[in-house]
Amino acid sequence: NSSISQVDPEIAALLDGELERQRGGLEMIASENFVPKAVLQAQGSVLTNKYAEGYPGRRYYGGCEWVDQVENLARDRAKALFGAEYANVQPHSGAQANAAVYQALIKPGDTVLGLALDHGGHLTHGMKINFSGRFYHAESYGVDPDTFRIEPEIIRQRALETHPALIIGGWSAYPRIEDFAAMKEIADEVGAKFWVDMAHFAGMVAAGLHPSPVPYADVVSSTAHKTLGGPRSGFILARQEYAKKLNSSVFPGNQGGPLMHVIAAKAVAFKLAGTPEFKERMERTLEGAKILAERLMAKDVADNGITVLTGGTDVHLVMVDLRNSEMDGRQGEDLLARIGITVNRNTVPFDPRPASVASGLRIGTSALATRGFGPAQYEEVADVIGTALAQGPQADLDALKARVDRLVEAFPLYPELDQTH
Ligand code: PLP
Repeated sequence: NSSISQVDPEIAALLDGELERQRGGLEMIASENFVPKAVLQAQGSVLTNKYAEGYPGRRYYGGCEWVDQVENLARDRAKALFGAEYANVQPHSGAQANAAVYQALIKPGDTVLGLALDHGGHLTHGMKINFSGRFYHAESYGVDPDTFRIEPEIIRQRALETHPALIIGGWSAYPRIEDFAAMKEIADEVGAKFWVDMAHFAGMVAAGLHPSPVPYADVVSSTAHKTLGGPRSGFILARQEYAKKLNSSVFPGNQGGPLMHVIAAKAVAFKLAGTPEFKERMERTLEGAKILAERLMAKDVADNGITVLTGGTDVHLVMVDLRNSEMDGRQGEDLLARIGITVNRNTVPFDPRPASVASGLRIGTSALATRGFGPAQYEEVADVIGTALAQGPQADLDALKARVDRLVEAFPLYPELDQTH
């Protein structure tokens, strides 16, 4: 028997442990999801053996007749799903997709203008020790200090001050919809390119429940594994005029051989994201986030100095503001972990606490929607979270954990998998 449990029982046991962890709690990290079995199968396939540097029909290796068809299907499905003229499905990750976007659109040393990291931007949007901040001159815009929203006029002022070659839209921790048309206008006004990183909200765009950046942005990048629910990886969409530059920027500019098993899994995910079932799941995701925001704005929570940034959400996540609470982000994260709910602490704009502690919690609803949650279950989990945050460590944690356990049992995860091997 050459199965992993025979070959490497240590790793096999760890895989089983992780499966049980995912099954046994409520996953509310906004960037995570559960892939379907079909995606697991594609990723665990013999395609991992194949080198295929280059692009379909133009490879630097023989034996690509099957993987060429895989990549063509993935590209065609991505283009159809998002209404894009061009797709590149080779980026190994979101960060690598973004590295390729920079390389295709601008030169080292050029100025870029993105959402500040501590206001919800991503590392690859100009953080100092990320490649984006080291090789490019990174400037940032922040949210409005009163509304906590991204306001086009603030971006415009910053763009007029900093003369960027590239304006970046998209975010990692922001609960509202950006105005892509206004951002494109600003980019045109200052002669900048416009790139949107839709990693977080790509699933909603696919389902038609969030405006698409594709008609406005020169280039759109994304991950496949957040709301979109595919394998961990990235992809890029653009108008045909950028095709050559983006292709050479991904390979050989930033990567060697594409991960064909992951590209197959992306193809599966793009297919599924076009179905009515996926749209219905995204609707539950959004409804769940609204239910959660409502509960976290109730009096018992507010009385403890805890609020919801922007007073609600348009997307799959809620940003909890703990700046006026005795509980900091780390304590909030730990408290929810004790009752079986996984979230991550996050800085909020104008955060007085250091990032390692933070004054925010980012709580997402997409993984639970994949698990099958609907409004009734979101009401229950929202009340559990609201009660825990309002009462702190004094809450009856055993009782809250029992409520979480009941939800977990009612919605089994991967019932078709006995174990991971
Ligand atoms: N872009 C955004 C907006 C993200 O939130 C993330 C992930 O957190 C990434 C890119 C990076 O994706 P990856 O972790 O696959 O490199």
